[in-house]
Amino acid sequence: MTTTTAITNARIFDGERVIDDQDVIIDGTRILAVGGAVPVGATVINAGGGTLLPGLIDSHVHTDMNGLHDALLFGVTTELEMQGHWTFKKRKEIAERDDVADLRSSGMGVTPPGGHPSQYMKSSASLLMKLFFRFPFVSTPAEAIDFVDTQVANGADYIKIFIEDGTTIGFPGLRATSDETLIAAVNEAHRHGKMAIAHVTTVEGGKKAISAGVDGLAHLFFDRQPAAELVAAIASSGSFVTPTLVTLSSAFGNSAAAIAADERVRARLSDKWLDSLSRSMNVYPQGKLNDAYASVMALRNAGVDILAGSDVSEPLPFLGGLAHGASLHHELQLLVAAGLTPVEALRAATSVPARRFGLVDRGRIAPGARADLLLVRGDPTTRIADTLSIRSIWRRGAMVHSSE
Ligand SMILES: [Zn+2]
Repeated sequence: MTTTTAITNARIFDGERVIDDQDVIIDGTRILAVGGAVPVGATVINAGGGTLLPGLIDSHVHTDMNGLHDALLFGVTTELEMQGHWTFKKRKEIAERDDVADLRSSGMGVTPPGGHPSQYMKSSASLLMKLFFRFPFVSTPAEAIDFVDTQVANGADYIKIFIEDGTTIGFPGLRATSDETLIAAVNEAHRHGKMAIAHVTTVEGGKKAISAGVDGLAHLFFDRQPAAELVAAIASSGSFVTPTLVTLSSAFGNSAAAIAADERVRARLSDKWLDSLSRSMNVYPQGKLNDAYASVMALRNAGVDILAGSDVSEPLPFLGGLAHGASLHHELQLLVAAGLTPVEALRAATSVPARRFGLVDRGRIAPGARADLLLVRGDPTTRIADTLSIRSIWRRGAMVHSSE
């Protein structure tokens, strides 16, 4: 017996735009129809003029079962992990559970001995061991090829490469991946048909990554604004950019206390996470959010795909300003503050990452798509902060949260 649910009287953002239809029919784990007659016997949920969105995708996280659980409470139905070590063993369990977000992961990333983010091991408690446990450091192009082969054999969905000399993150003098190793890793990823995604925080790092042929930048560079040539090079390379403005904002010393104080957020997070969210990293206080906004808009105006991602990981003071789920909503708000329209910001958390990561079954509200859905009060296509006015969430057709 399948369960059929009809969500009626909704404004529908289908991942691209607001459409004319107002009803969505869910059958089992999939969307059966958009518009049309409500099937006899269906459970009807009247959206009351609220907005139905595809489940959100956070394109930059480091996670665990608790993080995936919190993400789902905020309507983030898929997290894309950009470094982590426990994921591959948990893949089947995560895919089949209805109380956690779904996950794709790079597994561990390419970094040289002592390179980012292994420096956190020195300053961390055991919590971080979960994230950065036993670094498989990569020193040479040959090691990069072996490493990528191993990651792919273990089930990596894409390959992450760190290009980080520490200057913008409070650890100057870090050893960064060499150009030769970077290029070898990118080429090997491509040989396997996998994307190579680079961690960069500087314009110089961005140049290296793009000239090595990466498919995406996991952060926006934030030491200065890029020259027009770099923006043009990123656009012509076809690379996407995940700005992680929430992380840049925290690095610049801005806390997310206002988000943490929002009743819609408070109700969903533990005190530990709320405390962490209320802090900031403050490792690059000379950074200016307005410069980052200008960079986002220069990239957007050049036609670069912008993806919404938070870079949330664990509730530790030096990684403060972030929380699973909540920070993706915060990121949408900052993308709009930068100048994206609310609809462009919503695309950055739905159809755009789905297309870039080959997640063909999600990121859209369309017949046949996976029923990952978020129903909110209000209209986030005109007021982005309404994404937090969550009424109901469905993961693979299962209602995992309802505020009624
Ligand atoms: Zn990260």
